[in-house]
Amino acid sequence: MTDAQMNGFDTLQVHAGTEPDPATGARQVPIYQTTSYVFKDADHAARLFNLEEVGYIYSRLTNPTVGALANRIVALEGGVGGVCTSSGHAAQLMALYPLMGPGKNIVASTRLYGGTYTQFTQVFARFGWSCTFVDFDDPAAVEAAIDDDPRAIFCESLANPVGYPIDLDAIGKVAQKAGLPLVVDNTSATPYLCRPFDHGATLVVHSTTKYLTGNGTVTGGAIVDSGKFDWSASGKFPSLSEPEPAYHGINFHAALGEMAFTFHSIAVGLRDLGMTMNPQAAHYTLMGIETLSLRMRKHVENAQKVAEWLEAHDKVEMVNYAGLKSSPVHETGKRIFPRGTGALFTVALKGGFDDCVKLVSNLKLFSHVANLGDTRSLVIHSASTTHRQLTDEQREAAGAGNNVVRLSIGIEDAEDIIADLDQALAAL
Ligand SMILES: *Cc1c(COP(=O)(O)O)cnc(C)c1O
Repeated sequence: MTDAQMNGFDTLQVHAGTEPDPATGARQVPIYQTTSYVFKDADHAARLFNLEEVGYIYSRLTNPTVGALANRIVALEGGVGGVCTSSGHAAQLMALYPLMGPGKNIVASTRLYGGTYTQFTQVFARFGWSCTFVDFDDPAAVEAAIDDDPRAIFCESLANPVGYPIDLDAIGKVAQKAGLPLVVDNTSATPYLCRPFDHGATLVVHSTTKYLTGNGTVTGGAIVDSGKFDWSASGKFPSLSEPEPAYHGINFHAALGEMAFTFHSIAVGLRDLGMTMNPQAAHYTLMGIETLSLRMRKHVENAQKVAEWLEAHDKVEMVNYAGLKSSPVHETGKRIFPRGTGALFTVALKGGFDDCVKLVSNLKLFSHVANLGDTRSLVIHSASTTHRQLTDEQREAAGAGNNVVRLSIGIEDAEDIIADLDQALAAL
């Protein structure tokens, strides 16, 4: 198939990155359940290790099934290269790893997935990485937070837990002016609703655990590189622009150009951090991704109906969904996410913390789980679960206040989702 026939999203999600298996003609991507690959001869092995030839050495680095998935996500995001990882959190660490070092800083949005906040504040601190949290609705404040130390700007496109649209155009401009890579977690939007590279992002990270797989079967992550960032311009990214001691002194940017970040992620990131996706997980995610756009269209349509119904309910104080005209970020949402602002939103109940806990246990169709982006409708009371370890102030700042439940609207019939919420609210 030629590239000319492969422009539309619905086509790419089915075909990109894969061809019939060269050995057997198998139409579906085989699960290459192998750890190692036979070298043709000693010279072939040497060329592979020198990164002079692309091929397979060991599945901690590369595997054909995992590679097919990475290439498909790269195509959907419009990047030049990328890798898959064992989880979304692994993708975040691995995306930042080549950029950071002790004493360096990340400027991050206050609106983040709870686990990301903990990773950035607690775990990264032990690597000597610091993190400054800023309200990304205020690009001037983001700019003001940048001194000599930052090596990355980080945010989610549709930010947790309210599906809050970030004005990526504005943040992209700040990043460009500062000469820093903008790293965007595009998990809740997916490339169907938003392509962060069109708004100035350098790297995109995903938890493929969520919508990309779509059925709640496996954890996984991905990093995609736009290929547009000049790693050598500022001298701030020596792992990429100077001889890398972790890989016998190769200068990745000089040797590999726009593929520098991707090759570094394989040759150093996956090799030495070891947070590799396994081929079984890649298989499940490849199955899911084939229907991504179909699911996202239904997710968004259902979310809009449910949000409008909830907004009119007398036990509901507020619905935080950018798809609603009442949302203060409705216009930003339409501009950055023209196909819809996802299916994740929060509902504030007049009855507070106790009513939230009761609602969660009254719901029957909704599953009470610490996940999102499943075909099934999911609910969680963030304050008593995912955001439990945060202070009240941090929860408020993260949009996870005590009287708030988060809904991840599935692809069931909207009427059934609404009926479940109706009975659960009535019983409060
Ligand atoms: C789930 C999630 C993560 C973490 O991904 P895992 O696959 O659970 O490690 C990171 N960011 C966002 C926005 C998420 O929803």
